[in-house]
Amino acid sequence: MLRKPRKKIEELLKWIESRPGEVAVWRTFPPQPPTFGTWPTLDARLMNALALRGIQRPYVHQAEAMDAALRGKSVVVVTPTASGKTLCYNVPVVQSILENPASRALYLFPTKALSQDQLAELYALLEAVEADIACFTYDGDTAPSARAKVRTAGHIVITNPDMLHTGILPHHTKWVKLFENLRYVVLDEMHGYRGVFGSHLANVIRRLKRICAFYGSSPTFICSSATISNPRELAEALLEEPVELVTRNGAPRDEKHILIQNPPLVNRSMGIRGSSLDETAAIATEALANNISTIVFTRSRTNVELLLHRIRTSLKARSLPENQVAGYRGGYLPNERRAIEKGLRSGQIRGVVSTNALELGIDIGSLELAVLHGYPGSIASAWQQMGRAGRRQGTSAAVLVASSFALDQFLASQPSYFFGASPERARVNPDNLYILVNHVKCAAFELPFREKDLFGKAEVSEILEYLEEQRVLHRAEGRYHWQADSFPAEGFSLRSATSENVVILDVSDPARHTVVGEVDRPSAPMLVHPEAIYFHGAKAYQVLELDFKGMRALVKPVEAEYYTDADLAVRLEVLDEFEHAEPWGWGEVLFASRPTVYKKIRLSTQENVGYGHIHLDEEQMHTTGAWLTLPDSLSWESWGPDRKSSALAGLAHLLRATAPLFLMCDRGDLQVHGMVRDPHFERPTLYLADNFPGGVGLAEAAFTLRKALLDSAWEALVSCPCEKGCPACVGALGSQIGSKEATRALLSSLRGIPA
Ligand SMILES: [Zn+2]
Repeated sequence: MLRKPRKKIEELLKWIESRPGEVAVWRTFPPQPPTFGTWPTLDARLMNALALRGIQRPYVHQAEAMDAALRGKSVVVVTPTASGKTLCYNVPVVQSILENPASRALYLFPTKALSQDQLAELYALLEAVEADIACFTYDGDTAPSARAKVRTAGHIVITNPDMLHTGILPHHTKWVKLFENLRYVVLDEMHGYRGVFGSHLANVIRRLKRICAFYGSSPTFICSSATISNPRELAEALLEEPVELVTRNGAPRDEKHILIQNPPLVNRSMGIRGSSLDETAAIATEALANNISTIVFTRSRTNVELLLHRIRTSLKARSLPENQVAGYRGGYLPNERRAIEKGLRSGQIRGVVSTNALELGIDIGSLELAVLHGYPGSIASAWQQMGRAGRRQGTSAAVLVASSFALDQFLASQPSYFFGASPERARVNPDNLYILVNHVKCAAFELPFREKDLFGKAEVSEILEYLEEQRVLHRAEGRYHWQADSFPAEGFSLRSATSENVVILDVSDPARHTVVGEVDRPSAPMLVHPEAIYFHGAKAYQVLELDFKGMRALVKPVEAEYYTDADLAVRLEVLDEFEHAEPWGWGEVLFASRPTVYKKIRLSTQENVGYGHIHLDEEQMHTTGAWLTLPDSLSWESWGPDRKSSALAGLAHLLRATAPLFLMCDRGDLQVHGMVRDPHFERPTLYLADNFPGGVGLAEAAFTLRKALLDSAWEALVSCPCEKGCPACVGALGSQIGSKEATRALLSSLRGIPA
């Protein structure tokens, strides 16, 4: 077949360089040849199957991980996407089953989509092995009639932490075969188990190990993780046992370019640059027009649709097929997503515009070019997205198109921050009392505790006594038995947000309503409020009604020249004060949010062409919060309004970054907001609230550690080499002149107050 003449990737990069604007950074990474290891001693059937699958020799990281796992040592493998990490766990698992057909393995994937995907690869290997190995998925979609078979016959059971928590551990008596013979537990995408979610998972693992010990098994854990700065520490905190670390990536890689492209200055004196959206669309269109397979990442769902619309329009204008590019994001229906993944793997779809939904795991083959529309918010995430382009043979490139946001401009001017920064640390706190008590209840429901029993490494005798006083447990002959009526695992969720979705229904044909897509419950007020224009696969719909009771949004297709963008108003209200130490306090708070107005923004020019009011009820969450009211001794009244809000925003930004260190949580677990005039205290107030209904102990810890919080915020501020403020310290840059100075003045006086 004759291929169309096309630009090669190197030429495309030169084309980018020739555009108005500037390439702020261009780094070239040389090709890396493969580094191989040797096979461990394996069953001939497995060796044969690997050869059939075209795998002649393992890469060094695969060999090291398999070796550790086969020796019974728990291991964590940290290698990039597409380096063949699934082999690291599939080989030891299959080997153990071939050695002993009673042997069992449990695979834990954080989401459903991933497990479907990796299932396909596992099935292919199992088929090639030609032995009787049964592998099943056990999740909310598993038919009740199939469940009994999975429980008894499944050699490999694939599930997720939520199902393990509510569907498997509490019913361990039905899973005797699994727990008696559990040889391996696979924990994929381990870096996702951080903060409160990770703290829950650590306790689910404690429960799992406790049940295994009861049935006489002691599984080895095989974990895989994306790059974080402390993978071994995280694995050992989750598993409470020594873990071997494998980081030497042996997979080959061809030459790769990384660019940061800055759109042209359109107003030099004000430092305003051209639209990063336009620039991203232009680069993606040029790449696709030259048959270069491309993935575009952007931060919001709205931007996915905007970019998709833009790229398709430009392809059409060049008489090129527009359906060679697809959108991909949360809210697309599962079958839509599977079709896009398949199209990408087969090459039928050459381009995709995605949110971070495609950052990890899901197999879409290797692409030649990744275009990042703006910095995704974390170093780890940026590297994951850039890693989506990268091939064994043939050059690849990743281009970050800087937006006018301060952080993007900072990266463009200080690339060493980007290339030199160590990736984020992941933290968990399995002994968080709120989380621990809930899991001790579940564990006691599963098997009685004996006095002096440890739970993992946690000493829990006081918790057991407390639960006895509460008549949840009943002590008899040195054992604590479950006596309450309830089913404890259903009483709480491992995740903060409900997994229920609002369904988007096209009701234009009264005889036949069709499902267009879905949106997660927390985002629904912003995205599908009445009158919103909702884009799906570049098609426009107008929302007629948002029905929360029925969990559905009714829409009709429209021709729209504009999209809508809603403003969210957030407020915090103190409901009850538990403890007080001027200027700090903590207690029960109401965290409320409501979209107030929406703007209509023209698709072609991004001009604001109107607005409307949104009439929806406020969304409310009762949680716990710590607060810091700014005392009069600051002579705050003499500060101008800009300086006040700069200082509050600067301190909030510092605390968002430093508080998780002390509270052992993840950034997303906390809501940090400053209010220039708080209605309750009638003074400027800063809140740190648990981002979980009911709270999970973070606010109380913040109150207890208040001095350390301010000290570390101060340390982060004064040790930052910047002059006027930067994303690494006070956040805002340029737009808020003097924010570093204002924050410094505020913090300095706060630290002068004896706490
Ligand atoms: Zn700074």
